[in-house]
Amino acid sequence: MLTFDDNRIGDTTYAKPLLDKFGFKATFFVICNKTTDKGAMNWKDIADMKKDGMDIESHTMTHHQSTMSQKQLDFQIGGSKQCFAANGYNATIFAYPYDDGSQNKTVVDTVARYYNIARSGFEPLMFLDCKGYHNCTQTDCKTFTSTGKLNYANRYTARSFTENLLEQGDLFNPVKIMADFSNVLNSQLSYNSNGIIRAIPILVYHNVGLQNGKPYSTQVGLFSQEMKYLHDNGFKVVDMAGLGYNSSTNTFYLKNSQIGTKLQFQITFPRRSVRYLVD
Ligand SMILES: [Zn+2]
Repeated sequence: MLTFDDNRIGDTTYAKPLLDKFGFKATFFVICNKTTDKGAMNWKDIADMKKDGMDIESHTMTHHQSTMSQKQLDFQIGGSKQCFAANGYNATIFAYPYDDGSQNKTVVDTVARYYNIARSGFEPLMFLDCKGYHNCTQTDCKTFTSTGKLNYANRYTARSFTENLLEQGDLFNPVKIMADFSNVLNSQLSYNSNGIIRAIPILVYHNVGLQNGKPYSTQVGLFSQEMKYLHDNGFKVVDMAGLGYNSSTNTFYLKNSQIGTKLQFQITFPRRSVRYLVD
């Protein structure tokens, strides 16, 4: 899954044409009150994205969140839901600014009142059944433990992976970044076999642009290479609207029926062929 945060103009100028080139759809987490800032996508840009099949979701009103009063949380979380509705968008997914707040019960309770699913950070793979995280004994994605504590992974803490942190870790060396990028993508393959997808990476980008070596900015040439890698290796790319949550089993699932249908055929093939059959 591909996601872009903070409605930066480079994401429509540089990233969007590359997404179109490869036929990829992505989710754009927009800050509702930051559509007139310098370097930000405005509502016209956002409408153009939506028209072309991109998914528009909520990233608060002003990108503030931690240590807030309930009134302020209602403004940032609930207010942004209303702000999107007023502009013609039904936002059902929320992304925490700075990946902050998903471990705070008050914040999560507020998110749960307005959204179906929320996205937080720090994991290269997101396990649809919430089993498989390090040092984590969860057996499903229930929001709370039996003693009322927040679970590490739950429907309001879908774990994602910020590509920009990988770039910083690799000191913006494109060869190293591409090697690590492919490692992250291919790490899902050992969990996905016999027609069942258990783990997927949810990648987060910020500003795709011309500058190199700038934190939270991805140089357009590198971004192009990454999208080409996804395409050439037959990875199925979907937006986050393709992620559903089953309240009976307390697990996430992938809505995209194409994935299920195509994978039916690969049961008799070796696991390695998955990448080519799910295009
Ligand atoms: Zn953000």
